[in-house]
Amino acid sequence: MAVRAQVVVRGIVQGVGFRPFVYRLAREHGLGGWVLNSTQGVVIEVEGERERIEGFLGELQAEPPPQALIEKVETSLLPPVGYSSFVIEASREGSEFVLISPDICICADCLRELRDPHDPRYRYPFINCTNCGPRFTIISDIPYDRPKTTMRVFAMCPRCDGEYHDPADRRFHAQPNACPVCGPRATFAANGARGPRAPDEPIETARRLLAQGAIVSVKGLGGFHLACDATNRQAVATLRRRKHRVDKPFAVMSLDVETVRQYCDVEEGEAQLLESPARPIVLLRRRADCPIASEVAPGNNHIGVMLPYTPLHYLLLGGVGESSLAPPLALVMTSGNMSEEPIAIGNQEAHQRLSVLADHFLLHDRDIHVRCDDSVTRLFRGKEAILRRSRGYAPFPVRLNLELAEILACGAELKNTFCLTKGTYAFLSQHIGDMENYETFASYQSSIQHFQRLFRVEPRAVAYDMHPNYLATRYALELAEEQGLRKVPVQHHHAHVASCMAENGVTEPVIGVAFDGTGYGSDGRIWGGEFLLADFRRFRRLAHFRYVPLPGGEAAIKRPYRMAVSHLLSALGEEALELPLPLWSMLEPGELPLVRRLMTTGVNSPLTSSCGRLFDAISALVGVRGVVNYEGQAAIELEMLAGEGVDDTYDWRLLRRTPMVIDPAPLLRGVVADLQAGVDVGVISARFHNTIAAIVADVCRAARQKTGVGRVALSGGCFQNVYLLGRTIDALERDGFQVLIHHLVPANDGGIALGQAVVANARLSGKER
Ligand SMILES: [Zn+2]
Ligand SMILES: [Zn+2]
Repeated sequence: MAVRAQVVVRGIVQGVGFRPFVYRLAREHGLGGWVLNSTQGVVIEVEGERERIEGFLGELQAEPPPQALIEKVETSLLPPVGYSSFVIEASREGSEFVLISPDICICADCLRELRDPHDPRYRYPFINCTNCGPRFTIISDIPYDRPKTTMRVFAMCPRCDGEYHDPADRRFHAQPNACPVCGPRATFAANGARGPRAPDEPIETARRLLAQGAIVSVKGLGGFHLACDATNRQAVATLRRRKHRVDKPFAVMSLDVETVRQYCDVEEGEAQLLESPARPIVLLRRRADCPIASEVAPGNNHIGVMLPYTPLHYLLLGGVGESSLAPPLALVMTSGNMSEEPIAIGNQEAHQRLSVLADHFLLHDRDIHVRCDDSVTRLFRGKEAILRRSRGYAPFPVRLNLELAEILACGAELKNTFCLTKGTYAFLSQHIGDMENYETFASYQSSIQHFQRLFRVEPRAVAYDMHPNYLATRYALELAEEQGLRKVPVQHHHAHVASCMAENGVTEPVIGVAFDGTGYGSDGRIWGGEFLLADFRRFRRLAHFRYVPLPGGEAAIKRPYRMAVSHLLSALGEEALELPLPLWSMLEPGELPLVRRLMTTGVNSPLTSSCGRLFDAISALVGVRGVVNYEGQAAIELEMLAGEGVDDTYDWRLLRRTPMVIDPAPLLRGVVADLQAGVDVGVISARFHNTIAAIVADVCRAARQKTGVGRVALSGGCFQNVYLLGRTIDALERDGFQVLIHHLVPANDGGIALGQAVVANARLSGKER
């Protein structure tokens, strides 16, 4: 079975021919992956059969290049991501440019000291060493030295200073090195009259209050969390009410994998992801007897779980020493913000913004320079498939097998990330968020400037989405104007497909299938159910779902029942109105005539080919979800109901025009017939998903006949749906297609910026030739 190993080699390993050596060795052992120099030493990822990796590691240590001196080799196993080749990073020798490490969870050595009553750092919440601790979130500039981090205000005591200057010490040049004598401290602050004042042991006090059902705002690595007992329904419900977050799932944190197994199923690969140094939130299937409050993730079979990643977290979860308090099964650890705003990072800011949300504050005085949310990932068929690439991953680049010009790609509107390119590196930013308010936009602009400074990138072109009203697009246009940069607009779904190609190392044309909610089309309409013949430079639209009205625009996105009306009337005409459907009761009085008027006049009712909206329509039509409280909710809840062991499909019609058009009318009729026959919603959901998968295979076959292309790239937010993704891959592979999917960057709009960058690069180099 294939595995991925991340290997960090320390010692004298740079400037001694180590990377070519690793490259040759990896090729000899038939392994995919990459090698690069970093501030930690040489970092390698190899993927392949376990025995081959063992052989590789054996030879690596037995016969290194003569000038090299290996001090330490650290290996962690991860689920594979499907590297297509082995890539060497050779081009950056001698430049002042360095890679900056993401934040790394506390290492085993530091954890041992944290738990050792005889160690001077026993129970010290900011323990770290060269191998672990904060990095990206405390760095204000390069070179990475203490004066250029937020640790600059803490003068090291003689003992820490001694460690820092001793080449034999584990804390040699550990920039955030600190101890209880000289370093940062945790403090507890009660919020107004809500709690006790000035207790002596801040973390124990927070633990006691959490156990009693309080909501505590906890300062972390990349921002504040809001914490409460995840088994306390009332506490979780209160947090939801205060945060104005109705249904969107909360993440939880538990002490270790063993504890997580008490409420979720954890496969081997999932345990590897949980325990990896990046410590992402991992989506896990909840057990039937799960004692976590259902309010944590309403309507969802999965829970996002992470393990502690800072020493403070370990103390908070009771993982250190004796205590009169029993450790919690799990704490909710959701981002410290009011819905939709960026996560709070400063103490003052937290007091201002979070005092209406939290009863108490667990603070510390090490400043956070860069905001960085938790990452979210999952295991799909034994491989990692990331959903939000942020803390622990960013700012490590996505490595590409082509040389890129220096480009700024501005990303999309929702789940925004941006991307800066240089050499073979694509520096994809941490998760910025939904660009719908001033605070997020401000955070976006300062992050771009920070990345440019850190990685010494001076873009000569700027790539952006074609949607004229996206804040990121307006920013791009202004910046290009101001600095005289080349402007490269990139169609939304082309960027999705290019992103999937790029991370898979594919440059030849593919049939790109991009299914999502909203993307601005080249014809000014709202696309989202697209089949494109694409390479990096250009695309041709091969097929799309039939256009239907989006009655009321944004209002129809928030109210999926409007999409159900739109699809129903488009498919069945007036007779649909006679059907006795649960749908009609979802509409407000007088809304049906309004929706019909919007549809017939076309006023505030743009046409869309969106597949995401079709999922919304079916979800509302079968009575699962008529109004959404977060993006994708209707589709997610429909997916959660899809029953196992259902293999049949509904009908559809493929109109063989150019481009081809998929008419879902027969599908709609099938769903209505099933509803009237009283068929179980789980069966209808499964049949619907199966139909979309079958449509993809059907259209791709027709596209292959026309184009001769047999490789398909699946991208867009709809492919985060694992039922759909699994069935689609199976259907395509049965037909002999090679299928590319996302592993390293999100299939959702969080991956758009990478696609924009590679498209812009191809267009620029094409023009010069
Ligand atoms: Zn450490
Ligand atoms: Zn000290």
